[in-house]
Amino acid sequence: MVGLARTAAATSSLFLNLESVLTAVLAWVVFREQTDRRIVFGMLLIVLGGAVLAWSGIETLTSVIGPLALVGACMAWAIDNNLTRKVSASDALFIAGSKGLVAGCVNIVLGVSLGAEFPSAGHISAAMVIGFFGYGLSLVLFVLALRGLGTARTGAYFSTAPFVGAALSIAMLGEPTSFAFWLATGLMAAGVWLHLTERHVHEHQHTALNHGHKHRHDEHHQHSHDFEWDGVEPHSHAHQHTEIQHSHGHFPDIHHRHAHR
Ligand SMILES: [Zn+2]
Ligand SMILES: [Zn+2]
Ligand SMILES: [Zn+2]
Ligand SMILES: [Zn+2]
Ligand SMILES: [Zn+2]
Ligand SMILES: [Zn+2]
Repeated sequence: MVGLARTAAATSSLFLNLESVLTAVLAWVVFREQTDRRIVFGMLLIVLGGAVLAWSGIETLTSVIGPLALVGACMAWAIDNNLTRKVSASDALFIAGSKGLVAGCVNIVLGVSLGAEFPSAGHISAAMVIGFFGYGLSLVLFVLALRGLGTARTGAYFSTAPFVGAALSIAMLGEPTSFAFWLATGLMAAGVWLHLTERHVHEHQHTALNHGHKHRHDEHHQHSHDFEWDGVEPHSHAHQHTEIQHSHGHFPDIHHRHAHR
């Protein structure tokens, strides 16, 4: 908020693209998530598309504190995203709920101690509606994506948000399409296409693992149940993965955190 208050809106949205870049860099460098040139290039195209949408000519920066605060916020989010990936196998609703609870308490304490006053009931309820969609629902889906795709790819798709926003305002509010919009469309489409057409197959080892998630009784799930099972698949319960070595296409999801040479 400090950064937003001190920086022009367009410049802020340019800087906020850093979130996905820093998230991916952390995922690759610190958390050793599997990637290749195709994914990095696709990611760059998506982020470039976001930057094109946010760009509105050269602005003079009135202070460095604003942008520095924004970079700091993006760095904190990048750490958050990577750490959330580590617990993303657990209940997504629970993760989103407990993150929201802690974040809300910390923010209220910070706000009150900085001398903020409580807003009117109307403002509070409006903020809660935004929070439900922008934070609650969005975060649950984000955790589900982290579970299946890994951090870097999830971050990349998340940065198509400004494009979806622009497309919605064109479709619903009748805003005119601009050259920047079509350029961003092309860049992001190319980036997402590079990601979707990725195929990564090789012989790999699944380590023994004990956790719960939705599953079918496929090659990875050859367990019996110690409870009454109605035969419905997929179903969810805590279970043991045994060590297994085989080959199939995969993403750096919760079951594929192996290193690549
Ligand atoms: Zn692999
Ligand atoms: Zn599993
Ligand atoms: Zn499983
Ligand atoms: Zn089962
Ligand atoms: Zn497998
Ligand atoms: Zn596998």
